[in-house]
Amino acid sequence: MTADRALHCGGAPCKNGRPAVTQLITILKFALPGAIAIATLEALFLAVVMRKNYNWRAYFASLADALGREYIVMSFLTISLAAPIIGFAYRHRLFTIPLDTPTAVVVLVIGQDFCYYWFHRASHRVRWFWATHAIHHSSNELNLAASFRFGWTGRLTGAGAFYAPLIWLGFPPGPVFIAAGLNLLYQFWIHAEWIPKLGWLEYVFNTASHHRVHHASNAEYLDRNYGGIFIVFDRLFGTFVSERDDVPCRYGLVKPLLSNNPFVIGFHGWAALLRDAWRARSWRERLMCIIGPPDAHPDAGHAPTPATPPRQIAALEPAE
Ligand SMILES: [Zn+2]
Ligand SMILES: [Zn+2]
Repeated sequence: MTADRALHCGGAPCKNGRPAVTQLITILKFALPGAIAIATLEALFLAVVMRKNYNWRAYFASLADALGREYIVMSFLTISLAAPIIGFAYRHRLFTIPLDTPTAVVVLVIGQDFCYYWFHRASHRVRWFWATHAIHHSSNELNLAASFRFGWTGRLTGAGAFYAPLIWLGFPPGPVFIAAGLNLLYQFWIHAEWIPKLGWLEYVFNTASHHRVHHASNAEYLDRNYGGIFIVFDRLFGTFVSERDDVPCRYGLVKPLLSNNPFVIGFHGWAALLRDAWRARSWRERLMCIIGPPDAHPDAGHAPTPATPPRQIAALEPAE
């Protein structure tokens, strides 16, 4: 197999003369319009039928973020900081892994989720990556519309390099990034706040309950449950916390962002990072400001707060 063909379909079986990968790309192309349609139905159901106080301003901010990224930023920003690293890894790969068996596809999906776990963990613990990822956590409500809030600067951070080990092993970059797209697509449904715990699925898969914990800024839940499709890597590496009945999730950043302006949402993390780097008293402090954890800086919206004692939470609950 030539490198070109490997990059294109990775040896995936073709149906009707069309590479399977092309079909997956088509699915991903229609994923955002589909997600917007379903998120809008959820919003209408919650607002009109359930008569909940749905935050439409936050909905339109998420919509502007998603449409701006997909149809404007992606069209003009074709470069990616990680591209040279990905290219280098693939040129010097250890093996060439054809994706023509179910085993190879399963290993790719699990391997991609493993890399996603570390990408996501770094996105919370390294302020350079947090500056973009904070956007996903900036909504003060959890709903399906919040799922497509990612910001516009992801390609400029080099975060794609987290997939380089998989590519160095021999998985072609095209299928690896398609798997990454499908991983994000999987995560759409876990932003539905109304989905309860799902029995034995909670042991293996990332579920709505686990992702509620991930989006919560309570000290009990902060920086937990980084998984994409699976929750097993959180369980293995000590970052798993299960949702508690006595600690209701408080969504949004630790220092809540109250603006619904898509530009404020998109760049507030970078503005705070630049401000803190500018004010740093030494080059070492400046460097730590960029590669250190975001909770060292209150303006990063990530400083931990003391845990809420269960008794205090109980006191806030309305009396029967
Ligand atoms: Zn996150
Ligand atoms: Zn999320």
